[in-house]
Amino acid sequence: MTEDALRREFGDRFGREPRVSRAPGRVNLIGEHTDYNDGFVLPIAIGMSTRVAFAPVPGRELIVRSTAFPQADVRLAVGGDRARRGDWSDYVQGVLWSLEAASVRVPAAALWIDSDVPLGAGLSSSASLEVAVGGALLALAEHSMPGEELALACQRAESEFVGTRCGIMDPFASRLGRDGAALLLDCRSRQLTAVAMPPAVEVLIVHSGVRHDLAAGEYNRRRSECETAVGVLQALDPRVGSLRDVDPSLLERARGRLGRVGYRRARHVVGENTRVLAFVEDLRAVDLEAAGRRLFASHASLRDDYDVSCAELDALVEIARGQEAVLGARLTGGGFGGCTVNLVRAGHGPLVGDRIAAEYERRAGRRPERWITRAAPGATVD
Ligand code: ADP
Ligand code: MG
Repeated sequence: MTEDALRREFGDRFGREPRVSRAPGRVNLIGEHTDYNDGFVLPIAIGMSTRVAFAPVPGRELIVRSTAFPQADVRLAVGGDRARRGDWSDYVQGVLWSLEAASVRVPAAALWIDSDVPLGAGLSSSASLEVAVGGALLALAEHSMPGEELALACQRAESEFVGTRCGIMDPFASRLGRDGAALLLDCRSRQLTAVAMPPAVEVLIVHSGVRHDLAAGEYNRRRSECETAVGVLQALDPRVGSLRDVDPSLLERARGRLGRVGYRRARHVVGENTRVLAFVEDLRAVDLEAAGRRLFASHASLRDDYDVSCAELDALVEIARGQEAVLGARLTGGGFGGCTVNLVRAGHGPLVGDRIAAEYERRAGRRPERWITRAAPGATVD
């Protein structure tokens, strides 16, 4: 629904004009499975967002509704004890919990939520919901909070209250996205650097339409494989606190002790961190071909060394490689399904997207959804 329609419906029900908080989804351009290894990621905020219309109401509750789940309103007590309800409203309650723990006193209010970020597609509808709700709750409480702090509060909401493992990338990108710039995030120091996206490119996201059951279990297994590798590397060099600290020469020295799998996992992470920084330099130099090649290299590493791709994602990347206007492509997100991200010459996204979709449909039997975006601004409230 449009934002005007959301405002109107809210106004009809509560007899007053709401304010609106918005927060975008995100896509990670490069830097996959590096976040939990203290490394680098490079997301952009995307043009799709979650919007929350809000206004104070009498009473002691938040009255919450989402167009994505059009059942009865959910009512959440403010200032009281919290219990998970086991549904989407836990994301809202999680943010309330997180902010109340930071001494934010949220008054009774109505929050109506609408989003055009596809749910569960890997474009972080969850962080966009949290950040948009967080912006609304802070405004209601008349409490100002630096963007980084709200992003961390949202990350705590999802990891500690909802109980989903997630890093800081998603809420950082949603809250602090920059119009026309990617965000280089150092997951160790949390330092954020804006990197201008050359106007000559746009980003095409293609959804494979699959999510394999393995995803969660394999994700946890990769994390522990990385921890094991760190232990081995630490024995050779005590300065190693995480795979972030490993350089290629140490990796080669440790090869025999790491074992075949450990070595390949570590090689992906070490190489991927290098690729993120090199990709940033390519963007700064506007060397688009070089940037594109890094995306293909990232995909190959995720496929061959990290073992988190699947036939559908490989097919999408190979089809993209055959398109002249595609500079580079790779799987984005945890893998085993979800989306690919394609760096495309500006203006070519729609045609290239149609061609990739047609060929993928021929091979995989399903027509993929796709979205074209540029780096979008982060969250706003007005
Ligand atoms: P992703 O973040 O990749 O879209 P997640 O599984 O992390 O996928 O988050 C999706 C969940 O977030 C949904 O199942 C729902 O519980 C919640 N959610 C996201 N957007 C909305 C929305 N607009 N309204 C209600 N719940 C939402
Ligand atoms: Mg999510």
